[in-house]
Amino acid sequence: MKVIVIGAGIAGLTTAIALRKAGIDVEIYEKVRELREVGAGISLWANAIRALDQLGLGSAIRDRSVSYARTALRRSDGTVIIESPLEEIVSRLGAAMIVLHRAELMALLSASVQDAIHLDHECTGFEQKDDAVVARFANGTAARADVLAAADGIRSIVRSQFHPRERIRYAGYTAWRCVTKFDTTRMLTGESWGRGRRFGIVPMSGGLVYWFATQNTPPGQSDRPGQAKQNLLELFGSWHDPIPALLKASDEPAILRNDIVDRDPLASWGAGRVTLLGDAAHPMTPNLGQGGCQGIEDALVLARVLSSRSPVEAALRFYEQQRVARTTPIVLRSRQVGVLGQLENPLARRLRDFVLGCVAASTTLRQLESVVGYQEHLQ
Ligand SMILES: Cc1cc2nc3c(=O)[nH]c(=O)nc-3n(C[C@H](O)[C@H](O)[C@H](O)COP(=O)(O)OP(=O)(O)OC[C@H]3O[C@@H](n4cnc5c(N)ncnc54)[C@H](O)[C@@H]3O)c2cc1C
Repeated sequence: MKVIVIGAGIAGLTTAIALRKAGIDVEIYEKVRELREVGAGISLWANAIRALDQLGLGSAIRDRSVSYARTALRRSDGTVIIESPLEEIVSRLGAAMIVLHRAELMALLSASVQDAIHLDHECTGFEQKDDAVVARFANGTAARADVLAAADGIRSIVRSQFHPRERIRYAGYTAWRCVTKFDTTRMLTGESWGRGRRFGIVPMSGGLVYWFATQNTPPGQSDRPGQAKQNLLELFGSWHDPIPALLKASDEPAILRNDIVDRDPLASWGAGRVTLLGDAAHPMTPNLGQGGCQGIEDALVLARVLSSRSPVEAALRFYEQQRVARTTPIVLRSRQVGVLGQLENPLARRLRDFVLGCVAASTTLRQLESVVGYQEHLQ
């Protein structure tokens, strides 16, 4: 069997690795001329770490990561609202969350399937035949295979061929992110919530810190050139230590900004010999740190299903059924966390913090475990 993967992001590369491991022939087609990742960190939760272990990449990824057993949700003055029960997750699952640089993750994933990647191949559409699927590319070439697995991100051309009228949804807030050199000794890890804005601090290896910040704004705003740091200091300069110092230590050009978007979950993803993976299938807000992790889960399930079921059309619908059921609640929960985190009304915020502070540790643990303790994608 031969599979064409569209897109060499986290989902596409992991899919290619998992398919090869299952003995399936795979080629990846990617539109850019050179693979590059944005200068930011990424958190991988236990569900993704165990998947990467199964692909033989776990130890290489751990070597480049910092592992977390404690984080907390705080107010803007630094007082703790709730601690995350990560120690409990570590003792149950062997790992809870690791953080590494996106470039390191991409380098590790792409190294395993380098020979299968065709750069400068922008997919423009596909045609289904009785015995094959044909992908067409902007450079005039075409590729034929038994299956087309589209991991071409939130603006997926393949998804739009199935669902042409569907829209991207703006979540109501924008996000900045940056990796900066900073003294990480005794650094607080976690997220702090203020009025319609949040700040997250995640120490990485090598004396680096990954931070992110959010703020409610109309869509499509941007910082004037050279003004991002100043704008962020106005928003977060009076927040608890080390937030102001972290911002001051950051390099202006290293600060990235994106509006946060997702899409409504779909009840079905593909048809015939074509399916979707990763952000092409279930784009979500980053509030649970699960977008990339779910793409990694998709990869393992798709490889297992394709190597154990036939015909391919039925195998793909079975894969989609499993993955729609798994990812839909995560997309929706991630949205809800964003709504709670971005509240502006002072009374609603006090009530939120009070309720969160009263939630029993066992309830928080159960909720977290339902996402990161998932095992169905493992063999
Ligand atoms: C601020 C922020 C923070 C986040 N933090 C986390 C986190 O901590 N943990 C986590 O797990 N997730 C996180 N995510 C989500 C995560 O980044 C995404 O879910 C993940 O990168 C999606 O990977 P993907 O491979 O599905 O898609 P993409 O990364 O979008 O890759 C798609 C690839 O397809 C290529 N492509 C697109 N169109 C075509 C075409 N027509 N033909 C050929 N190639 C094409 C693109 O060039 C790209 O290489 C975060 C997201 C944001 C915005």
